[in-house]
Amino acid sequence: MTVALETRNLVKRFGGFLATNDVSLSVRQGARHALIGPNGAGKTTLINLLTGVLKPNSGQIILGGEDITALPAHRRVRKGLARTFQINQLFGEFTPLESVVLAINEREKIGGLAWAPLVAHTKVVEEAAALLQRFGLADVMGERTVVLPYGKQRLLEIALAIASKPRVLLLDEPAAGVPEEERHEVLAIVRDLPADVTVILIEHDMDLVFSFADRISVLVAGALFTEGSVSEISADPRVKAIYLGEDA
Ligand code: ADP
Ligand code: MG
Repeated sequence: MTVALETRNLVKRFGGFLATNDVSLSVRQGARHALIGPNGAGKTTLINLLTGVLKPNSGQIILGGEDITALPAHRRVRKGLARTFQINQLFGEFTPLESVVLAINEREKIGGLAWAPLVAHTKVVEEAAALLQRFGLADVMGERTVVLPYGKQRLLEIALAIASKPRVLLLDEPAAGVPEEERHEVLAIVRDLPADVTVILIEHDMDLVFSFADRISVLVAGALFTEGSVSEISADPRVKAIYLGEDA
């Protein structure tokens, strides 16, 4: 098996609080790897460590065999590690088409070309439109993003990440806050992501996790509690107890 992303004995402290406790995680190339655990388990902290938003106190992060622990966030993106782009005020004023064109241009700049002939520009627009079509955003690609339904905005965030052609995509609760009537669309897109992209998904919706994942890691209080296949984790009484405890 080829390992796409790995952490070795990762530790993150906030003051005296241990948010990431000696996490060693291995994610297979092409995996649909879900990261679950109760609120406050350290899931988002782990994603922030992987992307370089946070620096670990100790431990290593290995992407495609290369130690990226010391790399800043933007260098990790260039090496193929993408997270969903939070739509902010500025992007809100752009249309989905404009945003995806920008994301593709950013990706292509990696090749060294600072300018592009008109024919290449047409190609970028075509690629952007095709991507938006795949994400169910074709009919709204010319509208200001701020006026779009929330579910469509979340889909655009994933489309922007995919436009960078990542090797590994990190999704932190992609359907969170999306109204019920839009949820199925977001879930369908998540299930349908390109097979060659390794996906790490944090999600509370167990139906989505169990239908999506081929591997599940359970975090509790910053540490890896257990890991297994969907059938192993869904049948594990200790995992059930953790979630029942949270509901109570
Ligand atoms: P999850 O995403 O699993 O709900 P988080 O990673 O967001 O959990 O948080 C894990 C723990 O770390 C929580 O107790 C949270 O309060 C704490 N925490 C997260 N970020 C910070 C921070 N920047 N400073 C201090 N404590 C933090
Ligand atoms: Mg979180």
